Amino acid sequence: MNKRAQRPAVLCFSGHDPCGGAGIQADIETLVSHGCHAASVITALTEQDSHNVKKILPQTPDAIFSQAQTLLADLPIKAFKIGLIGHADSARAIHAILQQYSDIPVILDTVLAAGGGAPLADENLLGAINELLVPCATVLTPNSVEARKLTGLDDLPAAALKLLERGARYVLVTGSHEQTDTVCNQLFADGRLLEAFNWDRLPHSYHGSGCTLAAAIAGLSAQGLAPFNAVLEAQEYTWNALQHGYRPGSGQYHPDRLFWMASDL
Ligand code: PLP
Repeated sequence: MNKRAQRPAVLCFSGHDPCGGAGIQADIETLVSHGCHAASVITALTEQDSHNVKKILPQTPDAIFSQAQTLLADLPIKAFKIGLIGHADSARAIHAILQQYSDIPVILDTVLAAGGGAPLADENLLGAINELLVPCATVLTPNSVEARKLTGLDDLPAAALKLLERGARYVLVTGSHEQTDTVCNQLFADGRLLEAFNWDRLPHSYHGSGCTLAAAIAGLSAQGLAPFNAVLEAQEYTWNALQHGYRPGSGQYHPDRLFWMASDL
């Protein structure tokens, strides 16, 4: 059989980042790197550069819902990846899809602000994420700032446990925004800390690291890995992509998600 036909498909609900660091482009590059097929439902267009996001142009909830339905009727989707959502009504549309396909793993990257500082979710969307999408998440990947914002709790373990109580099965709180020598990512499940992963802190500020990590977890889940192993391997892939990062404009660095293709490695 044609090997391409066997590539597990991941359905991404993602925004479009025209500068190519984050959003759907990050997802597609990451999923291709993991031997997966990326199906994409664009939740929002954005205007941005490698410094910051200037504008979000959400797509209609109806378009999001009906494009997802069309894909799901055709492709055997093995995992969902959710990134930038853009509007609370779009979160409702995505929730309606997830309810219909409740046995497909959901990797939810809670995108609340851009690395450059621009807010990417208002209070209504924050509420819809907490109420509707967090309970559906197989793996939730907030950074430490997002974990605090989602829960109103300053203490990271307490925030992660609250997100587990809301129904997420695994919560990976990433630590790059903390003032620590190494980056400590903490994985929680079953009401406790399962593992703390420490990574050497890299020198730059990166655009699209969270999208890359969540897409890698989704790709590895689609390949059949259990959440713990998917989280472990996805961090290694993301760290390597960041270490090989490059600066396409005058702002943040972008991960080189195709680092594995370079002939000089
Ligand atoms: N733009 C889009 C479309 C995104 O999905 C995201 C994050 O997921 C961002 C911008 C922000 O990316 P970062 O926080 O890496 O700057």
